[in-house]
Amino acid sequence: MAKDLYDVLEVSKGASDQDIKKAYRRLARKYHPDVNKSPDAESKFKEVQAAFDVLSHSEKRARYDQFGVTDDQMGGGSGFGGFHGGGGFNDAFGDIFESFFGGSRSGRGGAGSQVGEDLRYDLTLSLEDAAKGVTQSITLYYLDVKSGSTRSCKQCKGTGFVEMVQRTILGSISQRSACPVCYGTGGIEREKKQKTLDIKVPAGVDTDMKLRISGEGNAGIGGGPRGDLFVVITVKDHRTFRRDGSDLILNLRVPVTQLVLGTTVRVPLLEGESDLKIPAGTQTGTKFRLKGKGIKRLKGGSSGDLFVVVTVDIPKEVSKDERRYFEHIANLRRDDEALKTFINTLK
Ligand code: ZN
Repeated sequence: MAKDLYDVLEVSKGASDQDIKKAYRRLARKYHPDVNKSPDAESKFKEVQAAFDVLSHSEKRARYDQFGVTDDQMGGGSGFGGFHGGGGFNDAFGDIFESFFGGSRSGRGGAGSQVGEDLRYDLTLSLEDAAKGVTQSITLYYLDVKSGSTRSCKQCKGTGFVEMVQRTILGSISQRSACPVCYGTGGIEREKKQKTLDIKVPAGVDTDMKLRISGEGNAGIGGGPRGDLFVVITVKDHRTFRRDGSDLILNLRVPVTQLVLGTTVRVPLLEGESDLKIPAGTQTGTKFRLKGKGIKRLKGGSSGDLFVVVTVDIPKEVSKDERRYFEHIANLRRDDEALKTFINTLK
């Protein structure tokens, strides 16, 4: 898991631009490689700069607050590898128990405590909802602190760990380990609960994008802070449009006569319709671009394009009458001779 940018700058989530600037100046001075000769100063300095780059930029900061990842990490498979695949409601439940004793992030909530596990919820959206953005109500199981639960473990007196003293020839060594009675919880118990959340999905999301909902994961172990909820998006295929990033592709079969003569057609958009002029003599495979009629980009607010790919629709069967007209055109154009001449150039 990437470090929280607010933690890197040692400021709170609600910090003002002024606070962020101040914190950045202080830490940049502290870790500047010209000043600080410790071996990790340079990496610290870079970390501080990267955090400031995001948090000092109001749009970048807003997106980071919403998604929990920076623009650079977004959609780039930055990977929080801690949870398992699956689909929706029941798998979110399964994940709790798969990772129940696996919580490994260091605690901030006192002795023996750990951050609660992150949860995953798989959310499947229609292409329309992904393009427009949607508020989706989801229900999931999670672990909450059991009501009335306190640091009641008698073995460790609620601290979550025990000291073991080992005598060796060099003297006694004291070792600290998780309390075997309460598994490091100090006696604070958790129980399974169910909750319903309204998830705001922004316009432009695509399959495999992850939305981080801070603090909506499991309650911490031994009184530690809550984990996060990750909503993993899948966008369903559409019957009419194919998606390519923020562009849409529409395949349109047009009768041969219309390609020869030219026409104007009403083509469907994801929302509404639009006129498309097909000029006389348009070749099969021609791509027409309807600018801005694709999907809104998550970054920058502009939209992709809709590409209409025209292919010729040749009638498989024609009536006697129609055949006569086709023969007539072929004769007028001397198409049989033209074809023979062309083939000769290939020999
Ligand atoms: Zn204990």
